[in-house]
Amino acid sequence: MNPVRNTKNSKKENKISNGVKFILSPELGRLAKWLRILGFDAAYFSQTNFPSLLIQALRDNRIILTRNSHFIDKARAAKCVQIKNDEVNQQLRQVLKDLNIRPDPEKMFSRCIICNTQLCEIEKQQVKDKVPEYVFKTQEEFFTCPSCRRIYWPGTHWGNVNKTLKEISDGIYC
Ligand SMILES: [Zn+2]
Repeated sequence: MNPVRNTKNSKKENKISNGVKFILSPELGRLAKWLRILGFDAAYFSQTNFPSLLIQALRDNRIILTRNSHFIDKARAAKCVQIKNDEVNQQLRQVLKDLNIRPDPEKMFSRCIICNTQLCEIEKQQVKDKVPEYVFKTQEEFFTCPSCRRIYWPGTHWGNVNKTLKEISDGIYC
């Protein structure tokens, strides 16, 4: 039986972070990966063709994250955040703080960090020849990306997430 959940709090979190989508300019690849780990829909624009980036942002209702002040000046039609720091933890902290959003715990680890696609659970037997033997023996839960076919399991790509999350969230939500 499911324990009674604190629906009031979970509704509040959903309201804050649901529907927030990003598009990141080429210099913010690491930040894109971290936003995906936290469950955000974070498209990464690898070219320097700013008009295309802007069109995609407006079409998909995505917030532009960039370090490029030149982009900011031209992006008046779209919502845009200029990232000020070089260090990815500080960048994440700025995004969460400036937009007053927080990750939804139920959505963390639900996206492929490489291509931003939603992951699907996959039966353990189906990954037998696709993951290292040690991993197969020690892990029970596996996920796969329907686009790039990458396999995920708790504790690898997601290793230091909780530590990093604590570092970035300290002082934001008190
Ligand atoms: Zn993928």
